Amino acid sequence: DERRGEGEPPIAVELEGVGKRYDGAVAVEDVDLAIREGEFFTLVGPSGCGKTTTLRLIAGFEEPTAGTVRFGGRDVSGVPPEGRNVGVVFQNYALFPHMTVGENVGYGLRFSDPPGDVSRAERVRELLDLVDLPGTEERDPESLSGGQKQRVSMARALAPGPDLLLLDEPMSALDARLRERLRVQVREIQRELGITTVYVTHDQEEALSVSDRVAVMRGGTPEQVAEPRTVYRRPASRFVAEFVGDNNVFEGTVAGEPGDGENGDEDGDQEGPVSVPVDVDGATLRVAVGGNDRGADGDPGIGDRIAFCVRPQHLRVGRTENGLEATVESAEFLGETTRIHLAWGDRELLVRTEDPLSGTVVVGFDPADAHVIDVDGG
Ligand code: ATP
Repeated sequence: DERRGEGEPPIAVELEGVGKRYDGAVAVEDVDLAIREGEFFTLVGPSGCGKTTTLRLIAGFEEPTAGTVRFGGRDVSGVPPEGRNVGVVFQNYALFPHMTVGENVGYGLRFSDPPGDVSRAERVRELLDLVDLPGTEERDPESLSGGQKQRVSMARALAPGPDLLLLDEPMSALDARLRERLRVQVREIQRELGITTVYVTHDQEEALSVSDRVAVMRGGTPEQVAEPRTVYRRPASRFVAEFVGDNNVFEGTVAGEPGDGENGDEDGDQEGPVSVPVDVDGATLRVAVGGNDRGADGDPGIGDRIAFCVRPQHLRVGRTENGLEATVESAEFLGETTRIHLAWGDRELLVRTEDPLSGTVVVGFDPADAHVIDVDGG
C-alpha cells in the first residue's frame, strides 16, 4: 500500500530514518513515513510506542537525534514550531480559563495575521462556525462541555490557516459517546478544509474509523502503514493482528504442498488462491495461500513454520471444515454480538455469536478466511 501512482497527491510531510533518544533511552527509531497532502494520517499503538514523540518531532517541539523531517521536500531541522505553520491540538484542551472562547480562538493568531482579507474578529467567527459553535465568542470556556472545549481548541489551532493539523489524543478525556461524535466532527472539518492531518491515538477503533491511512507503531517504529481495511484484513505481523481488533493467531508447521489434498485439482498447480495443510498442535488446518501470500518469496514449503490469523467472526460454530473441538469458558454480552472465550487444549479461542453457547462445541473456518501473517519469521 505504499504504491505511489500518477494521480497521488504530493508528499506533505516526510520522515526519513528518524530517531529520538533521551539519555540513551530510545523513544522512536527508524521512522520512515510519507504523509500526502490532504491525507488524514493516524499514528496508533499501545502506550509508550512513540506516537506522541513522533508527533512532537513533526511539530518541532523536539529535534530528532537521527534522520530528517521534511515538509514539502524541505528539511525543517532547526525550524521552531511557530515557523512550521502547523496547528496543534492537545489532549487536555489547553484553553486559557481567564479568556473568553473568542479570545482563546484569537490567541491562535498571535504569530500571524488572519489568512485572506478578514479582520481577526471575522476570522474568529468563521472558525467558531466551522467547529459548529457559532456565537460563543463571549462564553467562558469553563462553561463548555469537554467536546465543545476540544472544538474551541481546534478552532484556535486552525485560526492562522496552517498547512498541517496535528492532534495528540484529542478525545482521550471524553466519554465514549462524546468521542464517537467528536471524531465524526473532526473528520468532517478535516474534509471540508482538505487539510493534511496527523492524528495520535491509542484507540485502534478510532484510528480505523477516521483515517485515510494508519501507521501501527510498536517499540518506537511503525510496524505497518496502510489503509484501515488493509491493516484489519491483512495485518503484516502478529503484533498488528492482535492489536487491531480481536483475532485468533495460530502457529504451526506446513505439512504439504499448496493444493495438496484439496478438492478438485490435485496437482497443486491451479491458478488463484490455494490452501496448504498446516499442523497446529495435532490438528491439521487448511489455510489459503494466495494473492500477496504467494509473492516473490514463493509459497510456504513443507516443514516451514507459519503463523496465521482468523477473526472471531470467521470462526463458525458447528462448521466441521477446519473443525476444532473446544470448551466454552466464558461469554461477554456486547449487545449486537456475544464474545465467547473457548478453550482449545491450552489455547484460548475467541468467537462471536448471536446466541449463547455452553459446554463443548466445534468451531471451524473457511481456509480463505485465514490470513498468513508470518512464514518462518519472515
Ligand atoms: P502514550 O500513549 O503513553 O503517551 P506514546 O506512544 O505517545 O505513549 P511516547 O510518549 O512517544 O509514547 O514515548 C515513547 C517512549 O519514550 C516512552 O518509553 C517514554 O517513556 C519515552 N520518553 C518520551 N519522552 C521522554 C522524555 N522527555 N524523556 C525521557 N523519555 C521520554
